[in-house]
Amino acid sequence: MKKSTSNQSPLKIYCDIFGHKYEVSKKVTSHVKEYTCKCCKKQLTTNSNGNLTELTPKFKEINTALEQIYTRRMMRLKQKTLSSSIY
Ligand SMILES: [Zn+2]
Repeated sequence: MKKSTSNQSPLKIYCDIFGHKYEVSKKVTSHVKEYTCKCCKKQLTTNSNGNLTELTPKFKEINTALEQIYTRRMMRLKQKTLSSSIY
């Protein structure tokens, strides 16, 4: 992982003027995604109301838990379809 800590201020100004350029950085579940601004690396996430909110450590925690539940459920679904296709 790359770590860039310096030289962020000019980009922040760009964001202030033109707005953030968010792209999906992580798909947590089918409804919840994390977004990162290409310029200033500001992160957003979808909250329980379906709105975008700043990705705070608290939300990161929630998303990690959500992701675990989601992947576990998806794996179980996959296993189900696999075993049902065998029988
Ligand atoms: Zn930005």
